[in-house]
Amino acid sequence: MSKQMTNIVLFGPPGAGKGTQANFLKESFGLVHISTGDVFRFNIKNATDLGKLAQTYMDAGNLVPDQVTIDMLSAEVEKNRDSRGFIFDGFPRTVAQAKALDVLLDQYHTAITAMVALEVPDEILMQRLLERGKTSGRPDDSNHEVIQNRITAYYENTAILKNYYESQDKYFGVDGVGQINVITNRLKELISSF
Ligand code: AMP
Repeated sequence: MSKQMTNIVLFGPPGAGKGTQANFLKESFGLVHISTGDVFRFNIKNATDLGKLAQTYMDAGNLVPDQVTIDMLSAEVEKNRDSRGFIFDGFPRTVAQAKALDVLLDQYHTAITAMVALEVPDEILMQRLLERGKTSGRPDDSNHEVIQNRITAYYENTAILKNYYESQDKYFGVDGVGQINVITNRLKELISSF
C-alpha cells in the first residue's frame, strides 16, 4: 500500500444512507467498501464465533466491543492491502477505533484522506429505518426502541468523531436529504476534489 491511496470514512447516523451511497462510490472510484455491520451480519448468518459474539450487542442496538471490531477491521484491510483505497462504512464508531485505524493505516504507509459525513435530521432517520425494516430482514431495523438505542449510541459514542477529524482538517459534511442520485452526485463532486 502507498500514500497514494484514497481512504474515506463515510460517516453519519444509522439510516443516513452510508451503505447505499458506498455502493455507488466504490464503483466510481475503484475503492474497496468495508462495512463493519455487513461483516458482522455475514458472520451471524454463518454462525461463526465472531457472529455469535456480535449478535447480542447488535440485536439490542449496542456497539460491539472495540477490540473485537478493530481486530475484524484489521483483517479486512489486510485482505485488500493492494487496493486503491477504502471506503470505511460504519467504522470507526468510537475514538478508540479512530485511533486504532490511524495506527493501522500508518503501518501500510497511508492515512485517512477525509471523513465525509451524510447529514440527516433524526426524524427522517427513524422513518427511513422503520421503512427499511419492512424489507431488510434486519432485526435491528424493525423495533422502534432498538432503533432509538442505535441513534443514542451514535450520539453518545460516535458523533464526537466529527471533532476528531475536524481538528485534522479532514471533516466534510454533505446534505444527506434528497433523492439518492442527487446525494451521490454531491458526494462524487466532493471526493473528486481530494
Ligand atoms: P450498521 O450496519 O453500520 O448499522 O451496524 C449494525 C450494528 O453492527 C451496530 O448497531 C453495532 O451493533 C454493530 N457495529 C457495526 N459497526 C460497528 C463498529 N464500528 N463498532 C461497534 N459496533 C459496530
